[in-house]
Formats: sequence, C-alpha cells, structure tokens
Amino acid sequence: MNMEENMTEKNTMPVIFTGHGSPMNAIGENRARDGWKKMGKELGQPKFIAAVSSHWMTEGLCVRRSDENPQIFDMYGFPDELYQIHYEPAGSTMLADRVLEALDGTASVNNDWGIDHGIWSVLCNMYPKADIPVIMISTDTTASPKEQYETGKKLAQLRDEGALILASGNIVHNLGMVSWGSDHGYEWAENFDRTIKAAVLTHQFDIPVNYQALPNAAKAVPTSEHYNPFLVALGAASADDQVTVWNDYRELGSMSMTSYRFG
Ligand code: ZN
Repeated sequence: MNMEENMTEKNTMPVIFTGHGSPMNAIGENRARDGWKKMGKELGQPKFIAAVSSHWMTEGLCVRRSDENPQIFDMYGFPDELYQIHYEPAGSTMLADRVLEALDGTASVNNDWGIDHGIWSVLCNMYPKADIPVIMISTDTTASPKEQYETGKKLAQLRDEGALILASGNIVHNLGMVSWGSDHGYEWAENFDRTIKAAVLTHQFDIPVNYQALPNAAKAVPTSEHYNPFLVALGAASADDQVTVWNDYRELGSMSMTSYRFG
C-alpha cells in the first residue's frame, strides 16, 4: 500500500446505523446509552454528521440548510427530566449544500424541522459536547426500499470528506405490540432481527433491501419509517467495510435496538 492509499483509507469515516427505541434511553442507566457513549469514543471526531432521522418524515427527500439546529421535543408524556436535555449542535449551510450536491438533485431544502429525539437522544450521549455540526436529512416516506438504499449510495462519497453518516431508527419497531417492561424480544422479533444480522454480516444487502419478502416482516416493520434509515446506512456502506454489530439486543417485545458500524 502506498502512502496516498493509506491516507485515503484513514480519512474515510465509518457509517453508523443505530437503534434508538424509547426516548428514555437518552437518560439514566440503560444498555443503549452505554453503547452510544462507547461508540462515540471509538469513532473519534468527524468533521460533521449527516444524520438520517426516522422521525423527520417527508414526502420527497429533504435536507435542512441552516447554521442552526433547533431541538425538537417530538415526544409526549415523558418525565420532566427528559425535557431538560439541551442539545443543539450547529448546522452549516455550506455543508448542507455539499450534502445536497451529493444527493444529486434528489433532495430539496426544508427548514421546517430541527434535531429530533431520534437523533439527539443518541448524539447527546455519543458526542455530549454538541461540538460537531449536524446536517439533518429526512426519511422520504414515498421512496421504495431500493430508493432508500440508493440515497445511501449517493451519501457514501461524503465519508471521504470527514462526514459520519449516522442513521437512526429501529430494525424491528412495532409500537402496537410493545410489551412494557420486557427486556427481550418476542420470538418473531428475535428471528427477524437475526435474519437481517446474518445477511448484513455476510454483505448480502439485497436481503434487507427486500425485507418485505422475509417471514414476519409485516409484524417487524408494520410501517417503514424506522426501518428506512437502516437502508440508507446500508447504501452508504461499501463492500470492503468491516461490519461490527453493537447494542445487539431486543426489548419491549417488539423493538430491536441492534446497531451496526460499517468501516
Ligand atoms: Zn423512534
């Protein structure tokens, strides 16, 4: 390997998909939080974070283009302590323009949203100083699974420019079937998550892209907004990325927290 190749490799940031689950994971003692803190230390400081949020749902793909990210408390009925968290990293019009350019005309500017709990619950533990600019990217509710994956492919080039692509959702997410207090998943949830994991670890990304054909998909992914960021992350991963599974657990019966690092 010559020096130039070595430098290129060094500058390529990993891609992260993380399960976020309940907003309560942001505080107190829990497995998710421990994993986020540890991962933040392992990743080091990216130049910026391109954050794909399951909770910013739009018709058509959107990017926030602003130097500010107002924090949104888009969840209701939780303890006061959760609403005391302040996490407002800078945005950047310049970096947003770069993200829009990478997305090659498939995304538009939308400043109606800010940094929602799907992103801040993770980042306030991963990067507690809030000192890294975040560019918010929506989840396009009209795009097919394949199109979600293609969005990730377009974002991949940003990895060489110091961007951490961080997609936040949940691979198994069925709020209607939640079993409060359960620290594991129903058998179908465990099975679905395991099938996805086996495919990801062997780089067979066509299996998660075509997840609707898998057993129990209708229960595991009754609506696609929490699954779609995972497809974006897969698209941004490359064939030679090392895959690491972390926060590998299910809880509340119908929630998978399984998270991946690519590269
Ligand atoms: Zn969520």
